[in-house]
Amino acid sequence: MSQKNVQVLLANRPHGWVQESDFRIIESDLPAVREGEVLVKNQYLSLDPYMRGRMNASKSYAASAELGQVMVGGTVGVIVESKNPAFQVDDAVLGYLGWQQYGISSGKDLQKLPKSEQIPLSAYLGVVGMPGITAWFGLMRIGQPKPGETVVVSAASGAVGSVVGQLARSQGCRAVGIAGGQTKCDYVVQELGFDACVDYKGDHLAEALAMAAPQGIDIYFDNVGGEILDTVLEQLNAFARIPLCGRISQYNATEPYRMRNFGSFLTNRVTLQGFIVSEHLEMWSQATQELSKLVTTGELKYRESVAQGLEHAPAAFIGMLKGENLGKQLVKLF
Ligand code: NAP
Repeated sequence: MSQKNVQVLLANRPHGWVQESDFRIIESDLPAVREGEVLVKNQYLSLDPYMRGRMNASKSYAASAELGQVMVGGTVGVIVESKNPAFQVDDAVLGYLGWQQYGISSGKDLQKLPKSEQIPLSAYLGVVGMPGITAWFGLMRIGQPKPGETVVVSAASGAVGSVVGQLARSQGCRAVGIAGGQTKCDYVVQELGFDACVDYKGDHLAEALAMAAPQGIDIYFDNVGGEILDTVLEQLNAFARIPLCGRISQYNATEPYRMRNFGSFLTNRVTLQGFIVSEHLEMWSQATQELSKLVTTGELKYRESVAQGLEHAPAAFIGMLKGENLGKQLVKLF
């Protein structure tokens, strides 16, 4: 009898907010592993905001997910069958095998992972993986922080934002987070060590931000776009830098946000640069090494929100887009 696989397929292209009914969960037979291939048992699936963009048919920097196909996504897992001499059974691997329990791969898209007590496999999807590297690249290479500067980051308690603020502190900067709710703000300041955090769901964001960043803002690491970006633009210092990382406030919007404070770019001689971390693979190894060292020494802290079981991935994904996660959102598959 062939082995069973559980997969989550893209069933509909959502207009506005994603619904659980936009996904379909199926059980299928795993095909036999052919010469040169490996079978990976995925331990964790990463849920990331970019997946919302893949559900659309519109043109973007990456191709859309196809209707009826397995949803795309990063995974960490263990080789359970190998017909490829480069991989042994029990090797831990990082891959892009999607929302499914098992994946078959030629090995080209797999990266072997070290097994370490201090850095669990799940961290390669978060703090020392793609989101952590995004923080590292955006802040260090685009933001170019200098001691004494003020760095503000939105979605500050999340996978990327939590690393941005801690790296900013390590560079001698004042780190100010923006996050939704007091619990997240307390976590950002008390556990992650940011200097301050502003709850954007409270009243008077502009006043609260001005109090948290009294010297003005030199770097704004933007994860959310929309109204928060507009508010920050009014408080930038001359020659401020904006690594434009994400626009999560707009991913489910049906009407585009109309920016008010565009003039700040000129009056403050602002440099804004959008970036896609997967286009900078040449620095992934350096970033992973540096982040791993900081995690090992305890200087870089992180949390994970873990949904149990693949059948809960759609709800966890929607929850993450709504801010129900604290830290990196994962699904544990086994
Ligand atoms: P995350 O922060 O772990 O989770 C998403 C968070 O976004 C939620 O927890 C929520 O936190 C916040 N959020 C949702 N709606 C919001 C709104 N309307 N206004 C303000 N905040 C909102 O996700 P992540 O993986 O670290 O990703 C953060 C951003 O980075 C996303 O925009 C993502 O697309 C982007 N990203 C870009 C790259 C790249 O290569 N450019 C790579 C990775 C990630 P609150 O409860 O605080 O609202």
